[in-house]
Amino acid sequence: MTDAIVIGAGPNGLVAANVLADAGWRVEVLEAQDQPGGAVRSDRGVHPDYVNDLFSSFYPLAAASPAITALGLEDHGLTWSHAPIVLAHPLPDGRCALLHRGLETNIDAFERSFGRPDALAWRRLSRLWQELDPCLVRAMFAPFPPVRTGLALAARLRAAGLLRLARLAALPVRRMAEEEFDRDGPGLLLAGCALHADLLPESPGSAVFGWLMAMLGQQYGWPVPVGGASALSGALVRRLESRGGTIRCGTRVSEVVVRSGRALGVRTADGDSVRARRAVLADVPAPHLYGGLVAGEHLPAGLLDGVRRFQWDFATVKVDWALDGPIPWSADEARRAGTVHLGATMADLSDYALQVTTGRLPARPFGLLGQMTTADPSRSPAGTESAWMYTHVPQHVVDDLGPDGITGRWDEKEGEAIAHRMEEQVERFAPGFGDHVAARRVLTPPVLERLDGNLVGGAINGGTTAAHQQAVLRPVPGTGRPETPIERLYLASACAHPGGGVHGACGANAARAALRAQGVVTGRLLGPALAAAQRALAGAGDA
Ligand SMILES: Cc1cc2nc3c(=O)[nH]c(=O)nc-3n(C[C@H](O)[C@H](O)[C@H](O)COP(=O)(O)OP(=O)(O)OC[C@H]3O[C@@H](n4cnc5c(N)ncnc54)[C@H](O)[C@@H]3O)c2cc1C
Repeated sequence: MTDAIVIGAGPNGLVAANVLADAGWRVEVLEAQDQPGGAVRSDRGVHPDYVNDLFSSFYPLAAASPAITALGLEDHGLTWSHAPIVLAHPLPDGRCALLHRGLETNIDAFERSFGRPDALAWRRLSRLWQELDPCLVRAMFAPFPPVRTGLALAARLRAAGLLRLARLAALPVRRMAEEEFDRDGPGLLLAGCALHADLLPESPGSAVFGWLMAMLGQQYGWPVPVGGASALSGALVRRLESRGGTIRCGTRVSEVVVRSGRALGVRTADGDSVRARRAVLADVPAPHLYGGLVAGEHLPAGLLDGVRRFQWDFATVKVDWALDGPIPWSADEARRAGTVHLGATMADLSDYALQVTTGRLPARPFGLLGQMTTADPSRSPAGTESAWMYTHVPQHVVDDLGPDGITGRWDEKEGEAIAHRMEEQVERFAPGFGDHVAARRVLTPPVLERLDGNLVGGAINGGTTAAHQQAVLRPVPGTGRPETPIERLYLASACAHPGGGVHGACGANAARAALRAQGVVTGRLLGPALAAAQRALAGAGDA
């Protein structure tokens, strides 16, 4: 019998499985799709000569996350690659706000484009990051409350610093930009970063989110795996298999078997039963787990009520392109950036985000655009570009502010219409873009969900990033930790704290909780040895 079953081979499931295998547990991962990786996969489905990432592409969170860096994936075939410039945000007047790796490069660039006061303001914001590094990153990824790392942070900052951090945590990015910068460029970089999640420029918490993404980019870059997103998942899989773990793809779990308040194993959609001696870890959405895979009768009414209130993040439409040449940006520097934000002014970003929040499909979609061959030349032939753009759309469309009457049915016609609208947005910043499209693929919300059941309605972050669903409020008030009301069952997906993104922390936290519950010490040196001893004892008990 296996020690643990992990439901779902997304990055969180795969990290969880690796942590358990490191402790000497026998682990089996059951994955609904035919390929492991969840939203970390690439293919050649757009054009045989081009590798396109199906979902996520840039991995600053993985590069910074202790859960992933501790796995040493470079020993299992992972190589990172960087674009010359991390991020570009073209402005209406032809200038371009740029984020580079390296503080001094950024200071020089901001001074040249936006003047000395803005460069000094950037240095101030970077100094705060330097003061907090690496405690902040550790605290961010730890289960909530982060007791040890929290104390370390408090020791560094003392009372005044903590209050400053508390204010930053509540600040909207629009307000931060007004307070810190004279010109529009640096603030737009931060506000665009907040819109990777569902945070309006006016949302509390959008400043700290934008700042974190920018500081990660400045320190670690926004790297991509050489060969495509699947290279990251592949390294996680190979590492797991080298430690005896197994993955069964094409196997959807339909039920967690619970007896007397304890998880005993799972049942699959094919009717198989798989038992787990020690734990079941679920890399599935919280609303699918509670009242779905685990029948409501096993769960407290308060939890089910919380799940009813669970808020998904914005839906998403993504277009993947095979381009026969580089994108003809008006702002020349954008050619060297891995990611380009397409939304010119703060007012544009605010209008767009409010429209999406209120169910109105924007006529001018803000977009994130990835130039993957610029970031990793192995993605397509020299002189071409493997590219994508995604934009957020409402979970429920009540009105279309564009000319197409899109209803949110997202059939082929609506998919083509929104893709055309997104291409028009690229044309505004890169006239002649359309002439380079050799092939394209449109991923509407239902397509995304079909390819990965965790992307409910096209949500990409496992639920809203807004403050009312973070930390102890994630996924429902009173949790914030991976433990569930069912003994031996743990929530390991991005619906758990700390939420969306490829950092593996939700999986690692769930795995450590499972190990702790079984009395396993999770120190890196002692853990495996103690676990082996424990398993021998447990095996003797089973016999
Ligand atoms: C378009 C897009 C772009 C993104 N861009 C980035 C980015 O650039 N950088 C970044 O850090 N993050 C990005 N993200 C977010 C990131 O990919 C996710 O937050 C992350 O993948 C979540 O990991 P996970 O393991 O929790 O879930 P997932 O990656 O969604 O994996 C869950 C897995 O569980 C499987 N599963 C679900 N239910 C069952 C079941 N009942 N039985 C068996 N298997 C099941 C699913 O098939 C899936 O394989 C992006 C996401 C999307 C969709």
